[in-house]
Amino acid sequence: MGSVSVPQRRAFLVGGLAASAAVITGCSAKSEAGTPVAKVAAGSAPTPSPAAAGARPDSPRTAFDRLMEGNTRWVDGKPQHPDQTPERRTFVAEEQKPYSAILSCIDSRVPPELVFDTGIGDLFVMRTGGHVVAPVVTGSVEYGPLTAGTSLIVVLGHQRCGAVKAAYKALKDNQPLPGNLQSIVEALRPAYQEVSKQKHADPVDAMIRAHTRQTAADLRRSSNLSPLLRKREVAVVSAYYSLDTGRVEVLGGAPAA
Ligand SMILES: [Zn+2]
Repeated sequence: MGSVSVPQRRAFLVGGLAASAAVITGCSAKSEAGTPVAKVAAGSAPTPSPAAAGARPDSPRTAFDRLMEGNTRWVDGKPQHPDQTPERRTFVAEEQKPYSAILSCIDSRVPPELVFDTGIGDLFVMRTGGHVVAPVVTGSVEYGPLTAGTSLIVVLGHQRCGAVKAAYKALKDNQPLPGNLQSIVEALRPAYQEVSKQKHADPVDAMIRAHTRQTAADLRRSSNLSPLLRKREVAVVSAYYSLDTGRVEVLGGAPAA
């Protein structure tokens, strides 16, 4: 990441996202020459770890490729743990510009930073039971593309999702779950209804995949994201993680090369 020069960052900021980024202020700092970030980049020159070598992915496709390369290392048992050094921590301390945003389940076996072999400052990560969304979650997903030039959003479902399995059973048996758990069930109702139209050998797995695709489709229709998608500055990918193999399978929305 040390090779991400200030001119690159500034050129990026003056792109189409700058106006949107100005709407929200928060933990994403402005990038100006002379900031501590620039000093680190030009001065102490932290040594990027191997996988972080090269420019920060600045398009949906390059972000997608970076993630899938990381997943291949994870599957092969050869993670490089990039961007996890003290130098990297210092490099991103003043400003973060994660290249991807991952919406995934709370499942303890699906940690996005490990699954995609990434490090500090690489990903925005939103995790909810069954990766269901509500306005606050959608706002969190939109935060990266609107403020930090994040160009890829991945909705990551996974094999044997307990939340989807519980929701499937609750809806099938018409037995609401107690308290707030029912709100997750209700968020999964559209996927249940889609799957119920046909016979499936594994209806829960079909529901996981349907829900993942539906969530991605809903995000693509977001009023904040759809203009960025039309300009191809952002892509929303739906994907499925295998607990057995560690592999991320793309379900839809892979950005064009
Ligand atoms: Zn899950």
